[in-house]
Amino acid sequence: MKMYDLIIIGGGPIGIACGLEAQKKGLDYLIIEKGPIVNSLFHYPSNMQFFSSSEKLEIDEIPFISKEAKPKRDEALEYYRRIVTSNKLAIHLFEKVARVEKQAEIFIIETDKNTYNALNTVVATGFYDLPNKLNVPGEELPKVSHYYDNPHFYASQKLAVVGASNSAVDAALECWRKGSEVSLIIRGPEVGHRVKYWVRPDIINRIDEGSITAYYDTTVKKIRNEELVLNGPKGEITIENDFVLALTGYRPNFDFLEAMGIKLSNDDKRLPQYNPDTMESNVNGLYLAGVICGGMETHKWFIENSRIHAKIIVQAILQRQSIQSDT
Ligand SMILES: Cc1cc2nc3c(=O)[nH]c(=O)nc-3n(C[C@H](O)[C@H](O)[C@H](O)COP(=O)(O)OP(=O)(O)OC[C@H]3O[C@@H](n4cnc5c(N)ncnc54)[C@H](O)[C@@H]3O)c2cc1C
Repeated sequence: MKMYDLIIIGGGPIGIACGLEAQKKGLDYLIIEKGPIVNSLFHYPSNMQFFSSSEKLEIDEIPFISKEAKPKRDEALEYYRRIVTSNKLAIHLFEKVARVEKQAEIFIIETDKNTYNALNTVVATGFYDLPNKLNVPGEELPKVSHYYDNPHFYASQKLAVVGASNSAVDAALECWRKGSEVSLIIRGPEVGHRVKYWVRPDIINRIDEGSITAYYDTTVKKIRNEELVLNGPKGEITIENDFVLALTGYRPNFDFLEAMGIKLSNDDKRLPQYNPDTMESNVNGLYLAGVICGGMETHKWFIENSRIHAKIIVQAILQRQSIQSDT
């Protein structure tokens, strides 16, 4: 069986950056992605605009030209797709990695289609697959979603948005502007402080003027077909409801990491163990890249500050190879 220098699991922006860097440095690599190119971005809201300006999302200084300073989702899809196609990156799409096992010094990577051997592996699987659930009765109803796409769907409907961070606030504002009757259910006493500084006044003003109803210090207790039961400062209340957008964040697939032997911190953060100088985990030859490095702190790493992981990892692999060939 062919032996790769490097297999990269996940074809998000950071997995792609790793593939491009490996290609530039002459490594025999393969990216394996379970969906289309930059699958997570493909599933972001259709009208979404990045908080970063386009040059901060660039890989390897390849210019990212967008109409406004901060690009839209479709412009990012265009950019990352062109990087893959123009550079003819080695990528297998719609192939899911199920298991990674290390036997002697070789990684055996099993997917739903094939088995591969590699000397090194990079895990760049992001966090967007697993939503943080509300864990309340009724969450399985078809009216409940943990992903938001387009406001048109919710027009003239009673929509409850659960959450207080960027995704929840963006969805609440956009849907209200397209004619939804929006309630915002916030677990804490106020709109989150990490909400973009140019959006926070907008949501606060819409709440203050009564256009959007905010329920602070409130949690969802039960979801029924036409109602929501909330638990707040005045006790239990029931509101009329057609749809629920539970935008309460996402988490990395910790089981997947642990099954490969990666150690996680015992606290709530569940930080994976790695050396920040090389991005190598506690398993030799197994590297971590991108947002996955933050464990439950999914806001800590993003494209802007983790695109550098690609160069660090490829450099570490090259150094390792040169040490091995010297001995
Ligand atoms: C609404 C929103 C707005 C954002 N705006 C910005 C911004 O302005 N600036 C910024 O820097 N960041 C932003 N981010 C964060 C940024 O998108 C993520 O940090 C970034 O996508 C991380 O890249 P990644 O490659 O590490 O992970 P991802 O983009 O999540 O890529 C991981 C990939 O791995 C694949 N995968 C997962 N499991 C497997 C498997 N078992 N086998 C094969 N493939 C697998 C997934 O399909 C996915 O394509 C935003 C995020 C959201 C949700």
